[in-house]
Amino acid sequence: MVVRTRFAPSPTGYLHLGSARTALFNFLFAKNQKGVFILRIEDTDRERSKKEFVDDIIESLQWLGINYDEGPIFQSERIEIYKRVIEELLNKGKAYRCFCSKEELENKRLEQITKGEPPRYDGTCSKLTKEEINEKLSRNVPYVIRLKVPEQVLTFKDLLRGEIKYDLRLIGDFVIAKSENEPLFHLATPVDDYYQGITHVIRGAEHIPNTPKQILIYKAMNWKPPIYAHIPLILGEAGGKLSKRHGAKSIKEYRAEGFLPEAILNFLVLLGWHPKREKEIISIEEVIKEFNLEDVEKRSAVFNSKKLIWLNKFYLRKKTSQEIEKIILADEYLKYLRDYLNKYPKEITYKIIELGKERANTIKEIFETMKFLYEKFDYPKELLIWKDYTFDQIKSSLINVRENIKNIPEDKFNYEFIKQVLDTLSEDKGLTYWPLRVALTGLEASPPPIDIMLIYGKEKSLELINKAIDKLNDIQIS
Ligand code: GLU
Repeated sequence: MVVRTRFAPSPTGYLHLGSARTALFNFLFAKNQKGVFILRIEDTDRERSKKEFVDDIIESLQWLGINYDEGPIFQSERIEIYKRVIEELLNKGKAYRCFCSKEELENKRLEQITKGEPPRYDGTCSKLTKEEINEKLSRNVPYVIRLKVPEQVLTFKDLLRGEIKYDLRLIGDFVIAKSENEPLFHLATPVDDYYQGITHVIRGAEHIPNTPKQILIYKAMNWKPPIYAHIPLILGEAGGKLSKRHGAKSIKEYRAEGFLPEAILNFLVLLGWHPKREKEIISIEEVIKEFNLEDVEKRSAVFNSKKLIWLNKFYLRKKTSQEIEKIILADEYLKYLRDYLNKYPKEITYKIIELGKERANTIKEIFETMKFLYEKFDYPKELLIWKDYTFDQIKSSLINVRENIKNIPEDKFNYEFIKQVLDTLSEDKGLTYWPLRVALTGLEASPPPIDIMLIYGKEKSLELINKAIDKLNDIQIS
């Protein structure tokens, strides 16, 4: 048997982390089994489905490297297939047209609730005779199509959770289509799974209540259902369903901030699955080799934004400056960073990226942490103070630094030489380096001041040191 899995998003929003994880698990399982992974766009809800979201889903999957072998297949282009199935179900008496009006249904519902019964359709229209149906059709009475649900308990096997029992008496005859041409989720999804030869339906645990309904379509059509595996929910950090409020953004938002696809993939795979040998860093190639559904956890996974950031930092540090430059130039979402690449000569830009990435969590932050190189900056003079030294002592230190730097010949203006000079200026190195750092960056934390001086060059460095001295001085320093 060739394994066939699918990712079947409804294009009603941008691809977010939760759905990307569903796509990833389907992809991983198919690849591990040398099977086929399909992308199916479930766009039967015409009002809520948007092309913009379809494009985003495709683009985000591509960016993540979750490549599908077949598709995208659009449900909106398969209406004829659903129609055939609906007609067959009607002909076989497995489904029926329900002409009950909204008001009638609402009244029945209220009545059932008052009696303490679970609200469900009472099957009135399943008893209509052919003549009654034809009469209503000839009068164009609006209708929906309901599946006849047997009064029994349905048991199905979930690959992760074992047997799940579902009392169908709680469901009642549910609507599978608004008309022959308007199938709903519970019809279109199993029909496609069947015709597309899906062997394993891998989807979020929120779909567990949908599965018995979809199995009923299989049964009504005399088809063999696929294997179901419901992967754990992803909870927000504070518990509850994962949402934007918990810091979970769409894939494209992460991308625009300069998260790397390998970090997101590594993060997603650990949301519910663990490699045999406990480790946090794992490449997608390794996961493909190891992945199996039995090892997917049943317990809900918790979204941990700190871990995602940690992973991104890890992968970012491994990239060379040239690689990071390439990413910025190739990715439209990072266009807004391109100006930073042109401000200094290329070699210096590479150095800036190298220094910036040590402190940055994302590509965007590389330049944020090095902003002082690109924009005018200011700081309160108190920031120049190191420990308990006085303004006068700090000023003397800066003057001393300035004079010594001034005396370094241009051809000796390199890391080792500058370090040698500065290290001898004071017993307390902080007294030399702290005010210098603030003078050069306006910040308390930054890459080492000598590295920054090498980027600025001697002249600009001296200019900034003078500015700091000015701050500490009422009189102009010459
Ligand atoms: N279209 C459904 C959704 O986006 C998924 C259906 C499925 O995976 O079975 O939630």
